[in-house]
Parts: sequence; structure tokens; C-alpha cells
Amino acid sequence: MNLTEKVALITGGSRGIGAAIGSKLAQYGAAIAICDLEPNEETVGLLKTVAPGGKASFFQADVTNFKRAQEVVSEVVASFGHLDILINNAGIAADHVIWKMTEDEWDRVIAVNLKGAFNYSRAVATVFREQRSGKIVNISSVNGLRGQWGLANYSAAKAGVIGLTKTLAKELGKYQVNVNAVAPGYIQTRMTENLPLQVKEGALKETVLGRFGTPDDVAAVVAFLCSEGARYVTGEVIRVDGGEYI
Ligand code: NAD
Repeated sequence: MNLTEKVALITGGSRGIGAAIGSKLAQYGAAIAICDLEPNEETVGLLKTVAPGGKASFFQADVTNFKRAQEVVSEVVASFGHLDILINNAGIAADHVIWKMTEDEWDRVIAVNLKGAFNYSRAVATVFREQRSGKIVNISSVNGLRGQWGLANYSAAKAGVIGLTKTLAKELGKYQVNVNAVAPGYIQTRMTENLPLQVKEGALKETVLGRFGTPDDVAAVVAFLCSEGARYVTGEVIRVDGGEYI
């Protein structure tokens, strides 16, 4: 796979799945712009060693801020000269069964996971339309394809991300912009490390490959969707879940 000369913006790229996607796209030759709440010097430092010409930068942003999304995209284009790939990866969870879920837990999870993806897709749409090319990959979840106990807010947001993906694929297709989603299963990151043992054991039992996923497992599929080989794939949702969903 060759992503030389491509510039990728990854939301929530400081750690976990987003950092692994940055690393993978950089290995294939892309320059990487990370946007996140806080910089992670280790991640940016590593990306600089992998990305050609050390082209990796950090942009501070809360993805829930609509205006800041427009600014970040303008800053990336000004700094790198162009933008070719957007990965809507920033996400949070705040789990509770519906009768215990607070309004704040609902609002925060929808704002980061769903509105954040809207904000950055909205900001790149003009750039991608004008240049008549672009790739958007949204990070959904198997729990957006099915319901899950305690995840009303998260499952609704991730299902919303799938609806957003399919709609943007239709709206941007004639501009040669591919819009796809990946739906990871249980992946070992900070998001999942403190889940109760019972939840972890349940997820492992469902996973037919018999192991939890790694951020790199997700990054490999995202890289394919960003590549020339996936040029005729759009509006698709690819599960990366070791068979957890089936
Ligand atoms: P993580 O907690 O390790 O990383 C999330 C990143 O998003 C962090 O760098 C965090 O700072 C950033 N972030 C959070 N809120 C933000 C905001 N408001 N603005 C900007 N950045 C923000 O989690 P992860 O497991 O790497 O998750 C990455 C994505 O993958 C998320 O969308 C998550 O929902 C999705 N996902 C994860 C799993 C899993 O099992 N880990 C499964 C399915 C989907």
C-alpha cells in the first residue's frame, strides 16, 4: 500500500486506536495531523520517526467544538499544503443502564462520538469537494450494529455514525470521496482496560478468534480503506471484531 504524498487528519489520535492508525498510515508514507484534547509527545515523537520527512503535527482540539473543527482543518491545510484523509476516531464511553444513565452521560457520549464526527466531516467536505478526492473513515463499533447492556448512549452514537457514513457516501460520491466505517469489537486500549472482569470474559467468549483485538488490527483495515485498492468501496461498514458479532 502506498500513501505517499497523502495527508491524514486523525481525531483522538494521541493514544489507543487513533495512535495505531497514525503509525500505520505513516508507515505507508502519509503525513499525519493528530487532533486531540491533549498532546502525547510520545505518539507525535514516534510518528515523526515513521512519517516521511518527519511530517507529523499535533493540533489541540475538543472535537465537540464546531468552530474549532473548521479552524483545525484550515490549519492542517495551511501547514501541510493539502488534506486527503480524515479519520473520525475520537470517542468516549460512559456506561450505565438506562434507568441509571444521567443526562450528562448521554449528552457527552453523543457529543464526542457523533457530533464530533459530524463537525470534522462538515469541515473537510468543502476541501474534498473542491479537490474532487478524499477519504473519510469513521470509527463506529459492533455495539452500533447491535444493542449492548449499559451502552444506550454509546450504541446510539455509534449507530448514528453508521447513518452518517452512508449518507456522506451518497452526498460526496460524485466528488470521488469514499466514506466508510469500521466497527471494532473489543480492542485492548485505555477505553476497555477498566471494564468489569465479567464484561471482559463475556466479550472474549463471543469472540470466535479467541483473543481480544489490538489497535493495530483496526489500523490495518483503516489503512486499506484509505488506499487505492479500496477506490470502489464506499458507504461500507467493516467489522474488525474477531467474529464477536456473528
Ligand atoms: P482511548 O480512550 O484509548 O482513546 C480515545 C482518544 O480520543 C484519546 O486520545 C482521547 O484523548 C481522545 N478524545 C476523547 N474525547 C475527545 C474530545 N472531546 N476531543 C478530542 N479528542 C478526544 O480509546 P480507543 O479504544 O482508542 O477508542 C478509539 C475509537 O475507537 C473510539 O471512537 C471508540 O469508541 C472506538 N472503539 C473502541 C473500541 C475498543 O474496544 N477499544 C471498540 C469499538 C470502537
